[in-house]
Amino acid sequence: MKYHSTRNGNFKISLSHALKEGLAQDGGLFLPEKFPAIDYKNFNGKTLADFSAQLLETYFTEDILSSELNKITQNAFNFPIQITELDNHVQLLELFHGPTAAFKDFGARFLAESLSRIVQKESSQDLCILVATSGDTGGAVASAFHNKKGIKVKILFPKNKISPLQEKQLTCWDNNIESYRVDGSFDDCQKMVKDAFQNISLKKEHNLSSANSINIGRLLPQMCYHAWSAIKFFEAQKEKVHIVVPSGNLGNVFGAFWARRIGFPIDSITLATNANKTVVDFYQSGEFHPQKSVSTLANAMDVGNPSNLERLNFLYPDWKELVKNSQAHSVSDSQILQEMKEVYESSKAFICPHTAVGTFVARHQLTQKKCLVSATAHPAKFQEVSEKALNKKPEMPETLKELLSRTTKVKDIGTQYQELF
Ligand SMILES: *Cc1c(COP(=O)(O)O)cnc(C)c1O
Repeated sequence: MKYHSTRNGNFKISLSHALKEGLAQDGGLFLPEKFPAIDYKNFNGKTLADFSAQLLETYFTEDILSSELNKITQNAFNFPIQITELDNHVQLLELFHGPTAAFKDFGARFLAESLSRIVQKESSQDLCILVATSGDTGGAVASAFHNKKGIKVKILFPKNKISPLQEKQLTCWDNNIESYRVDGSFDDCQKMVKDAFQNISLKKEHNLSSANSINIGRLLPQMCYHAWSAIKFFEAQKEKVHIVVPSGNLGNVFGAFWARRIGFPIDSITLATNANKTVVDFYQSGEFHPQKSVSTLANAMDVGNPSNLERLNFLYPDWKELVKNSQAHSVSDSQILQEMKEVYESSKAFICPHTAVGTFVARHQLTQKKCLVSATAHPAKFQEVSEKALNKKPEMPETLKELLSRTTKVKDIGTQYQELF
């Protein structure tokens, strides 16, 4: 299997190459050259790791990683994933039982396992990964790459702009993970990374790479758990699932589209966004107008220019087909608070504000359907919002408690990328 850019189908590269590059040279995003159909009856309810190794075999052919696939999925998916029932109409796909308690652990761990094996197989110079983060991604990346051979990670985050819990998750590391607290905004952090990449001799000297959410190495595992959950749902309910995904950059939901495209038993797919309505507007008008992001209670989804829409447009070049095959709805902050409260009162379940965006859409827009909503983060990561909605704080999972007990290490810097080296 080869991979090509969403903007040019002719120039094809290997999986390993696409994983290292992240973004295609023409600015497009990588996708596989084909989406071969599967027969879902050949897949059964194994562990996610075994299931994913079987499913991804096609996507790893002709690559130096093909003999490593089994080890990659076993190591990456070494934490639980489960489907729980909220009520007789809505089930949750709990994706938050990994080390940093959000679904980004799946993608970050899969990418870390893959990249460190590529470096070792190619016996190339160590990779240096730069990540600018405003919260969740950086923590998952730090945790996933910690002590991985052949890789160094530099995390940049804006001073005084992220929550204390988020900052702790970015600074509680040692050895190959370095944290930099930048005296500036998130945009400054992103610009520093961009500038460093544009310095060609520096990029070569340090073998710079990125691990951001548009890397194809994050989509492959996200396709696997949607496929796996569709099978589980089908076995239990004897009908195809209606999937609802709380969405920002559309990486998670793209995994569901991919799984359905190749034949897994998925009926409808619904994108649930917060007050950032770029995608909802696109579904309504067929016109895409990126907007400045607005801050909401579901802040990991505060995206005004979702990059994975480019991949969705590749799957559905005709907007009418996209709209016929999926839908999108937006949820306000007050609806998020109301939903967290109602779910707690009716089911005694804490849900995070992002998950609440999804269950709100399932409970108000898809009332006749049996839905599976991605639960994207553990509610304990959002103590203040829970307090606001319920006057109660959810219990911390052990994984987060452990991170909070560590000592922190961080370097304070200005906004010049040279300070990183
Ligand atoms: C990143 C994130 C999302 C949004 O996922 P996308 O793939 O960007 O659509 C939703 N919820 C949580 C908790 C996240 O961290």
